[in-house]
Amino acid sequence: MSETAKSRAAALAHLRSSDFARGDPIPLPLTMASTFHAPGDSAGFDQYGRFSNPTWRAVEHALGHLEDAPCVIFPSGMGAISAVFFALLKSGDRILLPSDGYHATRALAERFLKPLGIAHDTRPTPTFLDGGFEGYRLVFVESPSNPRLDICDIAAVADAVHKQGAIFVVDNTTMTPFGQRPLDLGADIVVSADTKAINGHSDVLFGHVASRNPDIVAKVKDWRETAGGIPGPFEAWLVHRGLETLEVRFDRMCSSAETIARRLKDHRAVSGLRFPGLEGDPSHNLARAQMERFGFLISFELASEEQAEAFIDNCALVESATSFGSTHTSAERRSKRGDAVPPGFVRLAIGCEPVEELWQAIKGSLDHLGA
Ligand SMILES: *Cc1c(COP(=O)(O)O)cnc(C)c1O
Repeated sequence: MSETAKSRAAALAHLRSSDFARGDPIPLPLTMASTFHAPGDSAGFDQYGRFSNPTWRAVEHALGHLEDAPCVIFPSGMGAISAVFFALLKSGDRILLPSDGYHATRALAERFLKPLGIAHDTRPTPTFLDGGFEGYRLVFVESPSNPRLDICDIAAVADAVHKQGAIFVVDNTTMTPFGQRPLDLGADIVVSADTKAINGHSDVLFGHVASRNPDIVAKVKDWRETAGGIPGPFEAWLVHRGLETLEVRFDRMCSSAETIARRLKDHRAVSGLRFPGLEGDPSHNLARAQMERFGFLISFELASEEQAEAFIDNCALVESATSFGSTHTSAERRSKRGDAVPPGFVRLAIGCEPVEELWQAIKGSLDHLGA
């Protein structure tokens, strides 16, 4: 981890202390309130729960510290992505999405933007620069793409998109601000499903939008306040708690993923393994240049649907579940979620278990698959 990332992580644990009065609780109090004491002029303080809440503010402060940019929180990752689209696009606009990214983003464009007169095209992540960006109002990438873990050159895309006067958005869910910093690479907006590693305990859905452009932040906030897709204070409080251990969890998960990817690649049952941290992976050189860590997702193929299901079911330290980024390792056969991948394709999301124990469990389950 870079020195700046370390100092950011260290300061995160003490963000609240500059405002402490004697007797204040050290941890963040949870404010469950839809309405607040509001005599006189109605400006400059909390009044109504759709506008603001002290618990939201603490989470936005913590996320803003990590992103080095103002953040607006949402009740899910898709809530954050929807806010960007609905707050910034209008009829007649055209947008570009990855063909190999999170499926719900494409579904949103197809089922809800298209009928409003906002067209979209898609393009594969590894060749995202090909064809240029003329005619687009907004360009959206997810790097590494999920589940195949291909990447694109974020700084190069940012440059080319800005030459066309368009807005450039990066979905940074898989990497978190500790693993990759798209705003520093030139993106206008980061969106994140904090449901994943940022909350990190599989008990909350959450999301955020980060941007250093005050006009974008104002529009996204106005959308949230007006459309009403707001996070609950309790969910916000849980995410604040999750954030306190993000750096420790993310570090463990990424380190373990490097060890496990290397060993998995040599296992006779495994083919087509993808992990940006492995020399020889098509993503590796670019990953070294633009990512701070290589992430905790690994994808690979087993011979069949049956083998993939058996591997997941018979591994005591791997949960059979969708999603990723939690304390527990989980895996999923992605064709069952509609990703365009072979039936035996597995996405393995490394968790926080001690790595040797985790590897022994994974190896044991693979060894049992037979030839
Ligand atoms: C999970 C996910 C989302 C959506 O997040 P929700 O909290 O489920 O709405 C968006 N993008 C990526 C890359 C994701 O993994």
